[in-house]
Formats: sequence, structure tokens, C-alpha cells
Amino acid sequence: MRVYNFSAGPAVLPLEVLEKAQSEFVCFQDSGMSVMEMSHRSKAYSQIIEGTEAKLRQLMQIPDTYKVLFLQGGASLQFTMVPMNLMTGSKKADFIDTGVWSSKAIKEAKKFGKANVIASSKADTYSYIPTYKKEQFDKEADYVYICQNNTIYGTKFNTLPNTGNVPLVADLSSCILSEKMDVNRYGIIFAGAQKNLGPAGVTVVIIREDLIGRVDESIPTMLNYKTHAANDSMFNTPPTYAIYMLGLVLEWMLAQGGIEVIEKKNKEKASILYDYLDTSKLFRGTAAKEDRSLMNIPFVTGDETLDAAFVKAATAKGLVNLKGHRSVGGMRASIYNAMPIDGVKALVDFMKQFERQHEE
Ligand code: PLP
Repeated sequence: MRVYNFSAGPAVLPLEVLEKAQSEFVCFQDSGMSVMEMSHRSKAYSQIIEGTEAKLRQLMQIPDTYKVLFLQGGASLQFTMVPMNLMTGSKKADFIDTGVWSSKAIKEAKKFGKANVIASSKADTYSYIPTYKKEQFDKEADYVYICQNNTIYGTKFNTLPNTGNVPLVADLSSCILSEKMDVNRYGIIFAGAQKNLGPAGVTVVIIREDLIGRVDESIPTMLNYKTHAANDSMFNTPPTYAIYMLGLVLEWMLAQGGIEVIEKKNKEKASILYDYLDTSKLFRGTAAKEDRSLMNIPFVTGDETLDAAFVKAATAKGLVNLKGHRSVGGMRASIYNAMPIDGVKALVDFMKQFERQHEE
């Protein structure tokens, strides 16, 4: 029996996608082989990777002036590739520190230049998106960096910083394709696939063309965006099966009705849980209301023993992976695109039941 999996990542995939992959697992269409067994240079595989890119472009309305790259190394390698490729002018970049993932990006950037932290909510366990003034941004900076949705703390930027002519780089690992976004606002978007896009193994990078080739060729070939852009992500063997699965997920999103429909469903799912948290006497959400994420919803009872008892009891009911990140404790429900509305309803019903049982 399949459970309702609230994992922050790798995360739930749509059942229809898994079933389609299963039906094509041994023999993909009339190729006589599994996608896993195909040469990445074959005609059949070219159609898969090109189709995947086309679907992503369609769903996100990616302008022609942006390249789409399918890379490896996870979102974490982008913490390195971004400064390595972009910190080439003033060698300065501005950061808004919203948690562990932005801190890791800051740490890597410091190896290539000056990482200036404009604002941080660290002192308050990153429970909100810190405010900043436009004047704080350095006009000379090579880029401004944000982690748009903070998987661990359940916060997201509802307004993007206005960075003027300085390119905005954003980690969208846990919110890509969760709601409508204007790609034109960004210089680089990157996301590890294993939350909203597919299985782990492929990282999507959407990069404005003028940001490619700002670094000279002395950096390692595999870490230069130009290498991958010039070879349509085929400089070496790409993660072929993960890209195929990503294509199936994107096809599923299109069949759902595209980003508007997905956004509507996500808002509906999130409000079912937030509305309950706002009225519950036992549970409370930990993220500032105005910065709440649609994808990751952390909550606590305020009593660690009770939190652990809740996670255990929920698991026994088939509501799994609700334990909060080790750095913050409590609970976290990750409700990515593939989480059905019934999963969120089942969680809230169970929370209500648990609350009744623990009424004083
Ligand atoms: N960025 C965010 C927002 C994340 O949530 C994660 C992982 O959970 C990462 C980056 C790291 O991703 P990866 O494991 O693909 O390197």
C-alpha cells in the first residue's frame, strides 16, 4: 500500500508518472530497450531530452534568451558553480541569508570573492524572510542571491528583491513550478529535481545567455556553464533516466492544466493545513504568516515528547516523514505538487483526532 509521504526530498512523485515509467521500464515505446540502456546520442534519446526541455519551457514560459541545462552535482554544486562563473567583475555578490541553504551558498561564494550579507533572520531560527532596503544592494555586485523557498523553515520570498541591473540568482529547489513565476526577473534559476521535478540525479539550471562565458576558460571544464550550454547538456553523459522521469513529471503537469491549475491546487492544499494550524490549540505553525511557504509547512506542539509521539502515531497511520529537519525539530509537512489534496486532508483529520486525544 502507498502511504502519504510528506518527505522534504527526495519526495513524492505522481502515481500516474510512476505507473507510466513502470509500463515503459523494460521497453521504451518501439525502441526495444529501456531508457536506461539507450545511448544518450541516439535519436530516441534526443527526442526525450529535447521534449523535456520543450515542456519545461512551455510550463515556465522560459524566454529564448535563456538556456536550460540539465546538470549533475545537485543544487549544492550550484553553490559553487554560480560564484565560480559569475564572480568575475567586481568579485562581490550580495546575499539574503534565510537559512542553511543560503548559508552554504555564502560559504562557497567566499572562496571566489566578497560575499556581502544584506540581511539575515538567523537570530530568530530563520522563521521569517528578513527585510532590507533597496539602497543596501551594491550596484557593482556581480549578482544578488536568494534561496526563494526555505525548505527547512517553511518560509518563502513573496516579493523578489528589486536588484536593478544586477542579476538575481535564485535557488528554487523546493518551489520550482509550484506557482507562476516570471523567469525574466532572474539571471539564474537552479533547482535539484528531487522535490517538485522528479527523482534525484538531475539539476535544472535556467541561465540568461549573457551570463554564460563571463569566466575565462581556466576553470575546470565541467564547472563552466559554457561547456554545458555549448553542448546542449551533452558534453558528457547526462543523467539520462532522471531526465526522462523529469519529462514525465512535466507531461503530468501539463495534463493537469499547467502552472495556473497547479498553483491553485497548491494554495488550496496549503490553506487546509494553515487554517487548521491557526485555530488549533495544540499545534502551531512556526513560520511568520506573511512569509509562509506553499510547499513546506513546519509546526510544533511546544513539547518535544508530544511531537515525537505525534510523528510516531502518524507514521502508524500511513502519514510518513513528518519529522522536522534535525536543525529545528518539531514536525514538517512537505506538500509538493505531487501530494494529493486527500493526503493533506488525511493529515489534518489525523491532527484533529490527535488534538482531541490530548485535550487537557
Ligand atoms: N537548496 C534547497 C532549498 C534545498 O532544500 C536543498 C535540499 O534539500 C538543497 C539546496 C540541496 O540540494 P542537493 O541535495 O540537490 O544538493
